[in-house]
Amino acid sequence: MLYYSTKNRDIKASLQEAVVYGLAPDRGLYMPEQIPQLPDTFFKEISGKNLQEIAAIVAYAFFGDDIDKDSLNQIVANSLNFEIPLKEIEKDIYVLELFHGPTFAFKDVGARFMARMLSFFVNERKQDDVKVLVATSGDTGSAVANGFLGVEGIQVFVLYPSGKVSEMQEAQFTTLGQNIVALEIDGTFDDCQALVKSAFMDEELNIQFNLTSANSINVARFLPQSFYYFYAFAQLAKIFDSAETVFSVPSGNLGNLTAGLFAKQMGLPVKRFIAANNLNDVFFEFLNTGEYKPRPSVQTIANAMDVGAPSNFERILDLYGGSHEKISREIKGFSYNDSQIENTISSLYKRSGYLLDPHSACAYRALTEGKEPGEKGIFLATAHPAKFKDSVERCIDSEIVIPEDLEKFTKKQKHSFSIQNNFNIFKKALINLT
Ligand SMILES: *Cc1c(COP(=O)(O)O)cnc(C)c1O
Repeated sequence: MLYYSTKNRDIKASLQEAVVYGLAPDRGLYMPEQIPQLPDTFFKEISGKNLQEIAAIVAYAFFGDDIDKDSLNQIVANSLNFEIPLKEIEKDIYVLELFHGPTFAFKDVGARFMARMLSFFVNERKQDDVKVLVATSGDTGSAVANGFLGVEGIQVFVLYPSGKVSEMQEAQFTTLGQNIVALEIDGTFDDCQALVKSAFMDEELNIQFNLTSANSINVARFLPQSFYYFYAFAQLAKIFDSAETVFSVPSGNLGNLTAGLFAKQMGLPVKRFIAANNLNDVFFEFLNTGEYKPRPSVQTIANAMDVGAPSNFERILDLYGGSHEKISREIKGFSYNDSQIENTISSLYKRSGYLLDPHSACAYRALTEGKEPGEKGIFLATAHPAKFKDSVERCIDSEIVIPEDLEKFTKKQKHSFSIQNNFNIFKKALINLT
């Protein structure tokens, strides 16, 4: 299967090229030429299948032309080796817990899958060494760094805004060493993203290195996120013969939501989607007005969603032929400020004992406000509450237990390189640290 650029359908790439280069040469995002349809029998039998079986089938539908079945199964087995439980927490409200991976956030799914797919290309297909650049507002850096740790032939540079990620997040990508380099940028997340984009445009760097992105612009990172929508449906199908299912997704760069939209286009019987924003709500505004106005991000307690210009917006437009009407029929938007997020965490905790992190809280609240009678709602819980210990403890007025596997990161020595928000300085550092 070939992948075309969202900016020009005539610009095409193989899967390997799309994964190794990240962005198309015209800076568009790659889209698969076809969206494979899964047969009815798959959906009839889905409730009897486990996560890895479902993921292997969906992965084969997308990547089967390009990677043999055994290798693909291996990639799936090595990346999705943790639980993704679905739990009912209130009547007709289910949570899909995506945070039981090594860094306690949903980005482990895409990051681990991408690391193993890229490793397959570098080590089996003799692709030259690759450098991964990743800008993070917190969770991406930790998931990508841990996903790629120790993978031969790949060096990872994590760019993060100094002082704007939690201590716990920072520890997860600054303490690893080996092939992982942390660059602490004197700026915002958008500045980090801009530096990464400039690096991809820089002729000299591109002659010297193979640079790729592990942000959700990379097809190997965002597409695997469709697997768990099928898996959630499978678990619900064990309880109900047929249900009107609505997914509520906490949204920043819109990679997670876009993966869900792909799942639906592959045949997954989802009724509709809810997109939950924090105060960085350009997508919410687009859904309501039809106007897309990116703007600088502001800091919130759901910081992995502090995105002013969501990169996968172009993919959503492309998927629906640019029609605002079609998009707004499929997705309803909600937006919450910090105090609404805090109230949501504290009130659900008081009512049921279930503890949300600030991102998942947006999705939970949007679902309770947006769900219609008769619908079954699933919200995606994207991070473990302990990852945002300080914010969460403030809401519930008591201390929470940090899982041991999460705590271990904070006990190690931090190593990062402080860099001004300046492309030439960043470029020099990149060359010197290689
Ligand atoms: C990245 C992230 C999000 C936003 O996901 P997108 O795919 O960028 O929309 C939401 N919650 C958490 C915890 C995240 O890390």
